[in-house]
Amino acid sequence: MSARILVVDDIEANRRLLKAKLEAKYYDVIVAENGEKAITAAKSDSPAIILLDVMMPGIDGYETCRRLKADPDTAHIPVVMVTALSEVEDRIKGLKVGAEDFLTKPVDDFALMTRIEALMRYNTVADELRRREASGMASGSLEAVDLEDLKKPASVLIIDDNPRSSVRLAKRLREEGHTVVTLLESGGLSAEAGRKAELVIVSLNAEKFDPLRICAHFKMHETTRSLSVIVVFDPHDQAKAMKAMELGASDMVVTPVEDQELLARVRTQSRRTRYIDILRRRVDHGMELAVIDQLTGLHNRRYMINQLDRLLKRPSAEQSPISVMIADIDHFKRVNDTYGHEAGDNVLKEVARRLQANTRPTDIVCRHGGEEFMIIMPDTAVEIACKAAERIRRAVAADAFEIEGVPVSLDVTLSGGVAAYTGSGESPLDLIKKSDEALYRAKSGGRNRVESVAA
Ligand SMILES: [Mg+2]
Repeated sequence: MSARILVVDDIEANRRLLKAKLEAKYYDVIVAENGEKAITAAKSDSPAIILLDVMMPGIDGYETCRRLKADPDTAHIPVVMVTALSEVEDRIKGLKVGAEDFLTKPVDDFALMTRIEALMRYNTVADELRRREASGMASGSLEAVDLEDLKKPASVLIIDDNPRSSVRLAKRLREEGHTVVTLLESGGLSAEAGRKAELVIVSLNAEKFDPLRICAHFKMHETTRSLSVIVVFDPHDQAKAMKAMELGASDMVVTPVEDQELLARVRTQSRRTRYIDILRRRVDHGMELAVIDQLTGLHNRRYMINQLDRLLKRPSAEQSPISVMIADIDHFKRVNDTYGHEAGDNVLKEVARRLQANTRPTDIVCRHGGEEFMIIMPDTAVEIACKAAERIRRAVAADAFEIEGVPVSLDVTLSGGVAAYTGSGESPLDLIKKSDEALYRAKSGGRNRVESVAA
C-alpha cells in the first residue's frame, strides 16, 4: 500500500505540480484548496504527511497547522510548511505553530523527496509502536510530563574537520541552550561520545575522515542506532547527501547553513527521537503489564496460556513430555472473611514466593486467577512432576505464615492437581481441564494433597 500525502495549496497549478511529482514516486496524493478543507481531509482520509502552503485566503497555513496540532486526531501527522523563498521569519513562525519541517518554493525535487522519505521512516516506527501499544493496552495520548520532555534542549555532537564552521555552529546551538561537543577528526570518535549525544551533526565536506563511514558507524552499533544524524552538505554534493540518507541519516542541511534552519532541524530531530523513545518505553511497560500479575509479580493467565500453546506446538512436543500443576489454596475464603482482603493478598504473595523458591528455573510459575496458581513444567514426565508438586505442597504447609496485620500465625495449605500432555493434539485448555479434574480429587480427598491424571 502506498503512503497517502495531502497537498494543500490555494493555487491549482501548484497542487497539480506537487501531485504529479509525488505520484511519479508512487505516493497516493489527495489535495485541498484551503485550510478548512485540509483539516476535514486530514481527519477523514488520515494522510501520512501534509504539505501545507502558507499563503492562503481564509485561514492561512499557520492557523491551519495550529488547529491540526491542537486536535488529538491529527496532531501526530507530520506537517511540512511550503513557504516562499527567503522568508526566514515565515519558517520560524511555521515551526512555532508545530510544523515538523518546511520546504521553500519553488520546490526542489531532491529536497522534497528526501524530506518526505525521512518523515516516512519516522512514521513507520511511530505507527508500529502506536499499534503495539494499542494491542497491548488502551492507547493514550502523551502525558504533560512527556510533552515537556520533548521540548528540552538536546545534547549535540558536531563532527567537522573545519574548526571555523564547527565553532560557529557550536556557538549558535549553545545560545539556544543545547549542550555541544565538537570533534575535528573521527579519531576521537569513541562510542562514548556517541552514547552521550542525542543528535550528531556531520559535515559531508570533511576531508580528514570519511563522513559517510561515520553515518554508517552510528547506524551499525546498537548503542548509537537511535541517534539522529543531520548531515551538512554543499549544493554540488547532492549525491553524497543522498548516500548519507540511505545509510540512515535522518535529515540534511545545505551550505551555507542558515542558522534558523539548522536550529529548527535540531529541535525537530530531537523531538522525534524522544517521541520514539517515549513510545518505546510505554510499549515495553505495556507489554510487562500485559503478562505480569500485579499483586504477586508472577506471570498472569494470559502469559500462561500463550506459553502452554507455544510448548504444545513445538515440533518436539510429541517426544518430550510437558506437565502442569494447578495449585489451589485450601479454605482461602476463611482468611479473607476473618482477617480482611489485605491479609488475603499478603497470603497470596507469600504463597507465590514459596512457589517460586521451590521450582526450577525452567518451570513457569503463574497466577491462574483468585487463589489458584499454575506451574508449567517443560520436559518433565508426570512421575517427576508429581514429586515436584509434592515438594511444593510441603513447602507451603511446612511453616506457618506470619502475615502483617494478622495477630496469629496462619496454617496455609494447598491442594494440587497434576496432568501431562499426552501428545494427542490437546490444547492448553484441555490440559488445564485435566489438571482441574485431578485437583478436584485432591480437594474431595481431604485437601493438602496432590493428585494426578496419568498420561
Ligand atoms: Mg498560496
